[in-house]
Amino acid sequence: MDRNQLLRALPKVDEVLRQPVVAALELPLPVLTDLVRDRIDALRRRVLEGELCRLPSMDELCDEVCAAARVAAKPSLRPVINATGITLHTNLGRACLSRRAVAAAAAAARGYSTLEYDLETGERGSRYVHVEKLLCRITGAEAAMVVNNNAAAVLLILSAMGKGGEVITSRGELVEIGGSFRIPEIMEQCGCSLREVGATNKTHLRDYEKAICEDTRALLKVHTSNFRILGFTQSVSLQELVALGRERGLPVIEDLGSGCFFDLERLGIHDEPTVMNSVKAGVDVISFSGDKLLGGPQAGIILCKKEWINILKKHPLTRAMRVDKMTLAALEATLEAYLDPKRAEEEIPTIRMLAADPALLKARAENLYALLRERGLACEVIPEQDQVGGGSVPTQLLPTWAVAVDPRHVTVDGLERRLRKQADVPIIGRIVKDRYLLDVRTLWDEDFAYIADTVKEADQ
Ligand SMILES: *Cc1c(COP(=O)(O)O)cnc(C)c1O
Repeated sequence: MDRNQLLRALPKVDEVLRQPVVAALELPLPVLTDLVRDRIDALRRRVLEGELCRLPSMDELCDEVCAAARVAAKPSLRPVINATGITLHTNLGRACLSRRAVAAAAAAARGYSTLEYDLETGERGSRYVHVEKLLCRITGAEAAMVVNNNAAAVLLILSAMGKGGEVITSRGELVEIGGSFRIPEIMEQCGCSLREVGATNKTHLRDYEKAICEDTRALLKVHTSNFRILGFTQSVSLQELVALGRERGLPVIEDLGSGCFFDLERLGIHDEPTVMNSVKAGVDVISFSGDKLLGGPQAGIILCKKEWINILKKHPLTRAMRVDKMTLAALEATLEAYLDPKRAEEEIPTIRMLAADPALLKARAENLYALLRERGLACEVIPEQDQVGGGSVPTQLLPTWAVAVDPRHVTVDGLERRLRKQADVPIIGRIVKDRYLLDVRTLWDEDFAYIADTVKEADQ
């Protein structure tokens, strides 16, 4: 057939929609129609480009439509199984919430709540009270509030405290966190000028001292959460910076990034400061994420001295960044667990995953291995190393155990692709040295049987 004959032979949309297998699909008609039209348009394009010298049969076309319909019927935001071992995987949604946090968020979502209602007086209340007391109790801070994420918190703080003046920051702390959030550009947005001091590797107290002038509004410290400067380095400690701020009557602001409540030193993770340490050092305003090392929902938590809280709460940006009821409910439940550090370790998945004993990880990997072997798969339990993720603890790896799968019937890339694209609940793993790794740190035991069945199905 020549090109014109092929074009004339293209089926009509209605004709495809009338085919019994297509008509039986449970998709809204407009969605199905678009789907069919897309397929036919694609065929037409390929004919015009001379790529096609034979049209698919009606059955083949229907099969394609059915496959596309199965994909279209699934939501775009879907649960996946994280087999990468990266606890705070930014692309996979960072922190997993505790059961209690999930239940609290669901209850807040389902019905009415005391979001802005005071049961005592029967009058309007504030959405910030639900977590403020808890945050103060846990961290020792004087006051607290919450916005949508830490990027918003930094924007608010700099807008409220630095506008029209200069904010002094070390050249070693001009962080970019991804998604084009860079400290220098944020300052510009906030209407304050960045006054850089020191060098990339070394900043001394005298650098800050010399830079202070009548336009100075604050001293800013940014935790270099996602990178480290090693070697010949020097930075000014929080204590020194706070002392300087006091002496000159300037507030010290700290963007802590992750904002950890848990002493990771205990797990052999170094250089990750705790929030309590910053509060104790006397920093005036501190901000950090809810869904990084804290292990809660996405949120930007601000701790501050009493004198700043009303300025922040009443700032016009605050309303634009206000946190929703599900987040507040999940955050309250997460924070409650921190009242007892043991409970935090048991309940909060992020802490539990990071704190997991390598011996336990090995035993879990052996359980998964046994299930895969039962299904005739070639695999091996191997020691591995994990990143923490979420732009936290960038230079340290945690020892872990994984099951390395050697597929028999497909390539390793093919296995990875099938598990990602075809599995009912997609499995996202890593390929290391031409083997497919299932890292147990970030897996749930109750998913093991599903994982084993699905890997078996993919290796055929
Ligand atoms: C992650 C991070 C942020 C942004 O926090 P989000 O909660 O993701 O908005 C800001 N500053 C630093 C230093 C960070 O590490």
